[in-house]
Amino acid sequence: MKNLSIRMKITLWFSVVLVAVMALTFLVALSVSRSVIQKTVRDGLVETVEDNIDEVEYYDEMPPEEQWNNADLYIEFRNGIMEIDDDFLDRVNGIATGLYQEDGTLMYGENPIANHTSDLAFADETLREISVGKITYYVYDRALSTEELEGLWLRGVVSEQQGDMQLSSVTRVSLILMPGLVLLAILGGYLIAGRSLRPVKEMAATASQIGQGRDLKKRIPIGPGKDELHTLADTFNQMFERLEESFEQEKQFASDVSHELRTPMSVIMAQCEFSMEYAENEEDYREALTVIKRQGDHMTALIEDMLSVTRLERKADSYTMEELDLSELVETVCGELSMLKEKDIILTCGCEPGVTVKGNRELLVRLLRNLIHNAYRYGKENGHILVALIRAGERVELSVTDDGIGIAKEEQEKIFHRFYQVDTARSSRGTGLGLSMVQEIAWLHGGEVKVESEPGVGSTFTVVL
Ligand code: ADP
Repeated sequence: MKNLSIRMKITLWFSVVLVAVMALTFLVALSVSRSVIQKTVRDGLVETVEDNIDEVEYYDEMPPEEQWNNADLYIEFRNGIMEIDDDFLDRVNGIATGLYQEDGTLMYGENPIANHTSDLAFADETLREISVGKITYYVYDRALSTEELEGLWLRGVVSEQQGDMQLSSVTRVSLILMPGLVLLAILGGYLIAGRSLRPVKEMAATASQIGQGRDLKKRIPIGPGKDELHTLADTFNQMFERLEESFEQEKQFASDVSHELRTPMSVIMAQCEFSMEYAENEEDYREALTVIKRQGDHMTALIEDMLSVTRLERKADSYTMEELDLSELVETVCGELSMLKEKDIILTCGCEPGVTVKGNRELLVRLLRNLIHNAYRYGKENGHILVALIRAGERVELSVTDDGIGIAKEEQEKIFHRFYQVDTARSSRGTGLGLSMVQEIAWLHGGEVKVESEPGVGSTFTVVL
């Protein structure tokens, strides 16, 4: 049973229940119809005898030509003529009717068990049962009420088996039809089960293909519909979409990384080759080493940033979030970075006191440092940086504003992409990873980063938490 497919299990279960229900219905119907049919047989007997009463008539006299011209039967009776109409049903549907004299002599009609009813006294309008061997017969008597026919009786007789015959024909038809219907239902069930489970098969096949890394672009084909399987397939497709996206990002990251590392590496190689061939004195070597160190520093910064970004993405869950005083944290970072005095820029901090958030100290410090470093890097000589922290209802807004070079509108979305730098010459000291890290940290805290900027006027980066 365990090794059977779901389709087979459903079909099997359904078939067993169906056969059981059918058999039960059949038995119930059989017992009900047996009593109904027996009643019909008895009613038929009474009805036939009652009908036959009207077919026996008495005439005082009747011209002979009238007697022999038609199919009716004429018997001389008492002082007149008794007419038995040709509509008299002496045997119909197994019901036999006989016309009797008072003494029990059969005048007309039939009685299949005449020997057994000869001792049975007539009883008007009474239905009786008598057993002949193993067979039960119903007997119904009726006295003819016309004055001239008084003393005559009609006796109808029918065997109980007449009902059984009808019943057996019903049973025979049912026994042929029912298995046919059951088979049809089972076949239908089997096909429907197969059809309904087809998406599951397709899901399994698609998932297995993706699992083997063959085709990440594959999706489960789903037609229109809203049932559970459609929802499941839809969910799987969304998951595949996200998987593909993250695989693509991974690939893109790997290729960006190699690209970013190749540039400083080629500078170092070129510098080495040049010095080995052309350097003549200590001065030349010192110059070459300075270039090499600068490129080395850049590579170190790049690698550190890459590690941070990867760690952020991979171990997002491992950062502990705690309730912390953001105002104090911002003041501290501003205090440290205002010492930089780069390009004689003045850094001011305008913090609303006592602003608390649930977050990770290390990450929030990194976020703020990145934004302030950028403001220094892309700020102008003798410029200003304003770091502000305010509470706006449920939200907390941390912004860093500078009056530096600004960012063109069309670049504003791209600067958050990894390794993206607007002007590589001016950004040469950066890695292009800072803002994507800032964004990642904001997302990790359930927030977002927005930028407002105008070239030549300055930029404001706002982190909403
Ligand atoms: P980078 O290490 O190059 O600074 P980021 O991801 O921090 O990388 O920034 C991406 C790019 O966005 C930068 O190269 C720079 O062109 C632009 N940018 C970032 N901050 C500012 C700012 N305050 N003013 C002007 N441009 C900025």
